[in-house]
Amino acid sequence: MAMTHPEGAPLFAFEHTYVRDLEGLFTPWQAATAPAPRLLALNTTLAVELGIDPDALRTPAGVATLVGNSTEPGSTPVAQAYSGHQFGGYSPRLGDGRALLLGEVLDARGERRDVHLKGSGRTPFARGGDGKAAVGPMLREFVISEAMHAMGVPTTRSLAVTATGEMIARDTTVPGAVLTRVAASHVRVGTFQYAAALDDPTVLPRLADYVIARHHPAAAQSDAPYLGLLQAVIDVQAALIARWMLVGFVHGVMNTDNMTVSGETIDYGPCAFMDAYDPSTVFSSIDQHGRYAFGNQPDIAIWNLARFAETLLPLIATDPHDAVGPAMELLGTFDTRYRQHWNDGMRAKLGLPDGLVDEAAAGDESLVTDLLHQLQEQRIDYTMFLRSLSSAVRGDATASRSLFAQPEMFDTWCERWLVRVLAQGRDPHAVAAAMDAVNPVYIARNHQVEAALAAATAGDLGPFDRLVEVVTQPFTERPGLADYATPAPASFGNYRTFCGT
Ligand code: AMP
Ligand code: MG
Repeated sequence: MAMTHPEGAPLFAFEHTYVRDLEGLFTPWQAATAPAPRLLALNTTLAVELGIDPDALRTPAGVATLVGNSTEPGSTPVAQAYSGHQFGGYSPRLGDGRALLLGEVLDARGERRDVHLKGSGRTPFARGGDGKAAVGPMLREFVISEAMHAMGVPTTRSLAVTATGEMIARDTTVPGAVLTRVAASHVRVGTFQYAAALDDPTVLPRLADYVIARHHPAAAQSDAPYLGLLQAVIDVQAALIARWMLVGFVHGVMNTDNMTVSGETIDYGPCAFMDAYDPSTVFSSIDQHGRYAFGNQPDIAIWNLARFAETLLPLIATDPHDAVGPAMELLGTFDTRYRQHWNDGMRAKLGLPDGLVDEAAAGDESLVTDLLHQLQEQRIDYTMFLRSLSSAVRGDATASRSLFAQPEMFDTWCERWLVRVLAQGRDPHAVAAAMDAVNPVYIARNHQVEAALAAATAGDLGPFDRLVEVVTQPFTERPGLADYATPAPASFGNYRTFCGT
């Protein structure tokens, strides 16, 4: 259905329940004026999902809204307040130093979604920062968040990236940009930490009730709603981290201010996808001790959730000491839930039959661990290998086998694995098709991302547009895209990513 937008009418039907209900957790603020805004990327599918005419967003009035130069009716731009443990150290006052929440819209399904700007100028939370963001990193968040979404990973979304027309100082002078981000909400574990530390004791219960109503309404039905809230956040995070681990995603900066209570991935800074399977993979240049290494992500999630649980103690029981036991008990459920999600996901990726609990199923666990061990030992590309397995199910294991320097190990494993996959007369073609639907061909490969961003920063958006097109249909192999399905050439070297973007 084509949408036409009446000229001059507001684009977004903004509401602002956050501002209405959560006094004490924001500061009203205006975006800096972008001198010469120019739309670089627009997510037309997401616009339609939000009930907005994409063509109207391309007009000067639309771009002015996307970059923060004009404020639509119903929008009250605010910088949100939050605290956070950054690399384990507590910062009592972080907040949106360069971002603003414009308001909320109800999408086509009636879901409430935040519309937010990143890179829109200094706010009272900016500390030493310039409040700005560069074109490269904002396009990076756009493409990686949309790739994650296309793979079924819960995430904030990217509606648009708009160049501001201003040059900003980074290592060199680079063009500035604003990302228009859409999220289930921007409430973070750090928001709870901030609320819990305020002198005003009414803020924390208001925040908890707000989050229950907006994200976890089932908790309201529980005898102990705040324990229900804790369990719900544990559950969505266990599911989320399992998805990251299944697609080989390294977030890179899992500080408590970068963990949502909705269960969406947020803040694409130094993140990247792992090539060769290795739990110790770290990309971020500032993560010197590997705190946020690939394999540590589930443990860090529990650590962050423990910080979340601490904020809830005074709500769970009149004497917070009485709340510690029940909260600890719930934190203990993360592990089981995470493993369940991960096992289910890995079984689907390997084409292992589910619901078949027979004697042979007992060997499946070692099938998985033996495989991961081999992938790590022989430094095999995780994504490429998993995708290649469907061909082995169809009868040709050459592609999988050729990835190994010592293919004999693979041969032994493959034989064992195929017995299970094709157990009880399962149809190889149906199994292979189901595997292809969960093993991406195309992920946002580091060298492709870097090449696309370098070209975009120099003014050529062609490679970026193409990369978005490729990674937003990750499961369908298409001709001519082989370069997007292979790891970086050795000459690309060890990939390093940077914060302070
Ligand atoms: P991040 O690592 O992107 O999650 O940011 C951590 C904190 O630093 C948040 O409070 C951000 O708002 C703030 N921040 C990051 N970059 C800037 C910047 N250029 N100017 C102001 N604040 C910033
Ligand atoms: Mg952040």
